[in-house]
Amino acid sequence: MSKISFNDYQLSTNIVKALSGLGYMQPTKVQEEVIPTALEKKDMVVKSATGSGKTAAFGIPLCELVVWEENKPQVLVLTPTRELAAQVKEDITNIGRFKRIKATAIYGKQPFARQKVELNQKNHVVVGTPGRVLDHIEKGTLFIDQLKYLVIDEADEMLNMGFIDQVESIINTLPKNRMTMLFSATLPEDVEVLCHKYMRNPIHIEVTSVNSTKENIEHFFIETSDEEKFSLLKTVTIVENPDSCIIFCRTQEQVERVFDKLDRLNYNCDKIHGGMVQEDRFAVMNDFKRGEFRYLVATDVAARGIDIDSVSLVINYDIPLEKEKYVHRTGRTGRAGKTGRAITFITSYEQNRLIEIEEYIGFSLKKMEAPSKELVSNCQKAFEEKSNTRPTTKKDKSANLNKDIMKLYFNGGKKKKIRPVDFVGTIAKIPGVTADDIGIITIQDSASYVDILNGKGPIVLSAMKSTTIKGKVLKVHKAIK
Ligand code: AMP
Repeated sequence: MSKISFNDYQLSTNIVKALSGLGYMQPTKVQEEVIPTALEKKDMVVKSATGSGKTAAFGIPLCELVVWEENKPQVLVLTPTRELAAQVKEDITNIGRFKRIKATAIYGKQPFARQKVELNQKNHVVVGTPGRVLDHIEKGTLFIDQLKYLVIDEADEMLNMGFIDQVESIINTLPKNRMTMLFSATLPEDVEVLCHKYMRNPIHIEVTSVNSTKENIEHFFIETSDEEKFSLLKTVTIVENPDSCIIFCRTQEQVERVFDKLDRLNYNCDKIHGGMVQEDRFAVMNDFKRGEFRYLVATDVAARGIDIDSVSLVINYDIPLEKEKYVHRTGRTGRAGKTGRAITFITSYEQNRLIEIEEYIGFSLKKMEAPSKELVSNCQKAFEEKSNTRPTTKKDKSANLNKDIMKLYFNGGKKKKIRPVDFVGTIAKIPGVTADDIGIITIQDSASYVDILNGKGPIVLSAMKSTTIKGKVLKVHKAIK
C-alpha cells in the first residue's frame, strides 16, 4: 500500500465515500498506476497478479467517468467465468453505490429472456462472459451505441478457455471511439496481438511486488504417488490445520472423489466444479467466502479469479497441467497483504511439470517431507479441536457500506408508466429527505425497487405508505431480495 490516498485523485465525494465504506483506505499499487491513467481515458494493458485489487483499479475510474443520466450501457467488462462476472458486478455496484451506478451481469446458462428484461433497463455497466455478450449483441438486446469503455479482464484466461475469437468478434461490433483496458496476469503472444490490433497506443503497466506469487506465499511440494495421495492429504491437513483451505483437483470426477472421501471423514467441506448448476456454484462460493465451511475441493474453472479473503492454505492435490494455472491457484491465498501457504503434491512422473512451473515463476518450490507419524499424532488433538468448532464466519466487506441502505419494494412499475424520475420527485419531497438519499432505482413491469441511503429508509417507508406517485398509492414494503 502507498502513502497516496483516494482523495488525491479527481474523484467525486460519492465515490470516495463508498471506498471508505468498503474499508479501502489507500490505493493498492495497481490502483495507484491505473486510476490516474484511466481518468485520462488512455488505453492500457495491465499486467498484474491476482488479488492485487485490479477490479477496483478499473471499477473506481469507470464509476467516476460514467455519465449517470445516460440510459444505455457505457461500460462493458468481459470476464472468462460467470463467477467472476457476478463478482465484478458486485464490486462495481458497491463502488458506485452512492453515485447510483447500475451494473448488470450476463452469462450463459441463465435464461436469456430474463437478461433481456434486465438489459432493457437503465444500465451503466454490463459485465459478462464473451459467448452470452456476443449473443445479446447479435440479437440486438445489448445496446452498444453509447459504449465508451471496454475492459477485458483476465485476458490470458480468455485465451486459455478458447474465448479469444469471441472477444475479437465483440470488439469488432463496438464503437471505435472508446477507451480499452486489458488486464492479464500473464501476456501470452495472442493477447499482445489483440492489444496491438484493437488499442490506441496503450500504456503498459506492470505491477509485481506486494501481492506477487513469491512474497506473500510460501511454496512447497511433497513427493507422493497416486495411491498415497489421499492419505497424504489427510496427514497434511492434520498438521497444517488450516482455518480455510482450497484443495485443487484436475477433473470434476477427482473433485467428486476427494470430496466424498473427506465428507465421509466428517471434514467441514464442500465442492465446486463446472459440472454443477450455476446456482449451486454461487451458493457454495458465497458460503465459502463467509467462512461457513473450511475445506473447498475445486477444479480450476470454478475457483478462477474469485476473491476470497483469508484462505490460509492451497493444496494442489493434482499439479496443474498449465504452468499459468499454478499462479492462479496459489493466488487464492496470500491476498490483500495476508500471507499464505501453498503445497503441491507431485508424483514421480510429474517432475517435468514442477520444473516447468519453477522456470515460469522464477524460483523453486521448497521440498517438504510427508508428515511423520509422530508429527501427525502430536497435531491430532489440535486438529480435532478445530474440527469440532465452527469456523469463524466472515463479514461481507460490503456489509458496512450497505448498513445504512434500505431497499424498498413498490407494487407498480412500467405497466403503470412509472419512471425513475417519478420516484425521485416524490421521495425527495419527503421532509428530511433529499435526492442524495436515493440510491439505485430498478423499474420492472409490475414492481419497482428503490434503494434509500443514509439511514433514511424508515422515514421514506412510512411516508410512502400514504403518498401518491403519479397520482397512485402504491403498496410499499422493505424488499426481501
Ligand atoms: P481483486 O484483485 O480485484 O480480486 O481484489 C483483491 C482484494 O483486495 C479484494 O478483496 C478487494 O476488495 C480488496 N481491495 C481492493 N482494493 C483495495 C484497497 N484499496 N484497499 C483494501 N482492499 C482492497
